Amino acid sequence: MLTPPRSMWWETLDGPVTPRPALSENLDVDVAIVGGGFTGLWTARELLERDPALRIVVVEQSVCGFGASGRNGGWASALFPVSDWTLAKRFGEETVAPLHHALNRAVATLGEAVRNDGIDGHFRQGGTLTFARSQIQAERLQHQVSKNSERGFGDELAWLSSDEARQRADLPGLFGATFAPHCARINPARVVRGLADRLVERGVDIYENTTVAAIEAATPTRRARIISRGGTVSANYVVRATEAFSVKLPGLRRSVAPIYSLMIATEPLPSSFWDATGFREYETFADDRHMIIYGQRTDDNRIAFGGRGAPYHFGSSIKPGYDYDDKVFQLLEGTLRDLFPNLPGEISHRWGGPLAMPRDMMPSVNVDH
Ligand SMILES: Cc1cc2nc3c(=O)[nH]c(=O)nc-3n(C[C@H](O)[C@H](O)[C@H](O)COP(=O)(O)OP(=O)(O)OC[C@H]3O[C@@H](n4cnc5c(N)ncnc54)[C@H](O)[C@@H]3O)c2cc1C
Repeated sequence: MLTPPRSMWWETLDGPVTPRPALSENLDVDVAIVGGGFTGLWTARELLERDPALRIVVVEQSVCGFGASGRNGGWASALFPVSDWTLAKRFGEETVAPLHHALNRAVATLGEAVRNDGIDGHFRQGGTLTFARSQIQAERLQHQVSKNSERGFGDELAWLSSDEARQRADLPGLFGATFAPHCARINPARVVRGLADRLVERGVDIYENTTVAAIEAATPTRRARIISRGGTVSANYVVRATEAFSVKLPGLRRSVAPIYSLMIATEPLPSSFWDATGFREYETFADDRHMIIYGQRTDDNRIAFGGRGAPYHFGSSIKPGYDYDDKVFQLLEGTLRDLFPNLPGEISHRWGGPLAMPRDMMPSVNVDH
């Protein structure tokens, strides 16, 4: 079995993770989902909300949460990684507002869902701060705020002067910050593992330690199916929710570009540090540099901090060894200590993992008929 990464989040789970049984028979179901990450599990949950009688199977090569969903920065973000301008140009101006509203709603819906399911996923809708740490960054961020407001999304992004920003995060060298109130912080491993547990309680069969070797589309004489060594699952619908790992499936090597994001976490920091530094609402944070960085104050008062920086590996390859890169970890620690010069204590955890970059840079859901 693929061993889950040494992510700090896994140590916050309530107990050791015991893999569920592997698939060992052929099955006929309504929906077969490949991949036990957020995409696969939220899909199962949403389908059940609409029709509780559906027979749904999830097949996971390791354990649920093995992929990026169990290792990430815990930003439940309402921010879309493509500009409104690009969206309008490609899909029409009329698509922009509904997308904004859907993204904002999605974060709140996530909060409601974990509450309703009794998952203690450390959800906290404290917003996101993006710091300006130079005059150029301040100008760029202010431009973004005014563009947003011109388009009628003024409630989504506010500009904070340096004094206002320091009320929330007392960091040196701030030229101001933007504040996006819709975003939330979660503990991703607790959410993804909790989701899987609740789905099983509601009748979804989850098979772990089961690698799907192929997904076959329906033909005029048989339904779609997924094939593993232990058995074949035939279904009316197959959902491929394999993100970066998709490149290992037949015919999909170039479907996405797997890129790596790496993270570090501090030891729990003393209340004297947080009293002086802020983040009282557990705001997630970044700055406006071109290289993506992201951080959060965790429930146990650490800083979990990550960034892209890791190289793309030739030929879209994915290997467990790529989850760790000392050079990138050092860069991350340097950046974190630059942001928080009074940071006490040591870095206690280092980990990473692959996520998928769509080759056209546009997040999307595709339907093959
Ligand atoms: C370090 C890091 C930090 C990140 N931070 C953030 C963040 O803060 N906010 C944010 O929004 N996004 C973040 N991301 C991205 C985000 O985590 C992912 O986009 C998201 O979790 C993808 O969910 P998923 O379910 O589609 O994929 P995954 O979580 O990768 O799940 C796919 C699952 O499919 C399984 N699988 C794959 N192939 C097969 C197969 N053949 N057979 C059976 N099972 C298979 C895998 O084992 C895996 O469990 C981060 C990513 C990383 C790596």
